[in-house]
Amino acid sequence: MKPSVQQRETTGWGRYPRALCYLFRPERVREVAEVLQHGGMSSYLPRGLGRAYGDAALNSEQGVLLMERLDRYLAFDTETGLLRCEGGVALADIIATFLPRGWFLPVTPGTKFCTVGACVACDVHGKNHHHDGSIGNFVRSLTLLLPNGETVRCSREQNADLFYATIGGMGLTGIILEVELQLRRVETAWIVVDYVRTRDLDETLRTFHERDANYLYSVAWLDCVAQGRGFGRGVLMFGRHAVTDDLPPARRPNPFVIPRKRDKSVPFDLPEFVLNPLSLQAFNNLYYATHPAREGILVDYNTYFYPLDSILQWNRAYGKRGFVQWQCVLPYENGVKSLDDILRTAQQRRTYPFLSVLKRMGESSGGMLSFPMPGYTIALDFPVRRGLFEVLNELDAIVLEAGGRLYLAKDARMSAETFHATYALLPRWREVKAQVDPQGLLQSDLARRLQIVEGGK
Ligand SMILES: Cc1cc2nc3c(=O)[nH]c(=O)nc-3n(C[C@H](O)[C@H](O)[C@H](O)COP(=O)(O)OP(=O)(O)OC[C@H]3O[C@@H](n4cnc5c(N)ncnc54)[C@H](O)[C@@H]3O)c2cc1C
Repeated sequence: MKPSVQQRETTGWGRYPRALCYLFRPERVREVAEVLQHGGMSSYLPRGLGRAYGDAALNSEQGVLLMERLDRYLAFDTETGLLRCEGGVALADIIATFLPRGWFLPVTPGTKFCTVGACVACDVHGKNHHHDGSIGNFVRSLTLLLPNGETVRCSREQNADLFYATIGGMGLTGIILEVELQLRRVETAWIVVDYVRTRDLDETLRTFHERDANYLYSVAWLDCVAQGRGFGRGVLMFGRHAVTDDLPPARRPNPFVIPRKRDKSVPFDLPEFVLNPLSLQAFNNLYYATHPAREGILVDYNTYFYPLDSILQWNRAYGKRGFVQWQCVLPYENGVKSLDDILRTAQQRRTYPFLSVLKRMGESSGGMLSFPMPGYTIALDFPVRRGLFEVLNELDAIVLEAGGRLYLAKDARMSAETFHATYALLPRWREVKAQVDPQGLLQSDLARRLQIVEGGK
């Protein structure tokens, strides 16, 4: 069978790639890569399900390898929960297959519609970063296809530099063909959640510090519109996996069965005026009012981890111009002041996010370009409006000053200077890149914009 290479006209696809290739089997990867090169493309990039918010999975006018059909499970140890699977397997499939057998993801981002290879390439974090760190900590080994056609295995013990350059390496060190991932044993598909409502930023941060050591998961929704005494108020959601005894007796015989909910959908792009300071204030007030302190609430895993996945095309709520998610991490040392500055600056510029999520981060996985570091991470979803990018530049400056950084998987607009000043291990990463990809064949729009690769093309 010939590799399916679809040549597409650039017109109509805007800045989309000139060639998209589906990968069906690993042995095809090499063939497809050759086809791309012979087709005159100077670079190519693996792509999962395209859930990275910015330009990490784009390679304008060049080749893109679609990984989603490289989706086989290769081995699973029922005793230890060690899964070996191909890089294109979706997290949703892992859950569907292994949760009924008592295993869940060790770390999950806020969507399950993404691939395991991409999650490693972004070194994704979840609500348990303060406790467990990012997904890289649970990767036993990787099998990579290098641009020279060689297949290599890497782990903490074997080709360690390549391993740490690939975890968080944004697809630029090789194509992740296989991942050995340690799953987490669970007794049910339910999470026991304690909700805590806080009055201001001080109380929000204090509550995190006082309580989150007792929980595997913690996350806070912040009201970024409230001013005065309510500035920085929020709702913290602490969670742990429910054991069978936590379930009502009627649910205990089927602890992995959760109610099916009908997906909702945003049918068309909402007009821009819908998200205005007044409606955002009303939304925040309503959310705050409807989330009082409550303890021991049973919530199914979809509701707790993936609230947006049940709203199809939720991005349309932001209107035609869309939105930007801006996510930074701020080291604890300067974190409180910097967080305060960020929220105040956005308010002073009347630039309000629709959603805002605050988490605490623990130790880094060691990935050279990984985002997490010990500190606070805040993700703000801003509707694109005139003047937004100037405000975001101001927020970047606060992050830079605080010694923090922005998340590559969410970024679409930071400057190369900001990136270079905040990712300290870039020189080491570049050494590995130069060894495994001396011609710079693996590239992306993100890599070019931020000059991640020396002399990138
Ligand atoms: C609603 C929502 C919530 C999110 N929440 C979080 C969160 O809580 N925490 C978090 O960390 N992230 C979060 N994200 C970001 C998202 O989870 C990650 O960017 C994820 O990696 C995207 O997976 P994907 O399969 O869609 O990859 P893509 O977007 O297609 O690609 C992402 C990157 O991975 C690389 N890549 C893809 N496949 C491979 C491969 N096989 N080998 C090598 N490189 C590869 C690509 O080149 C690209 O650089 C969220 C995204 C959404 C939409």
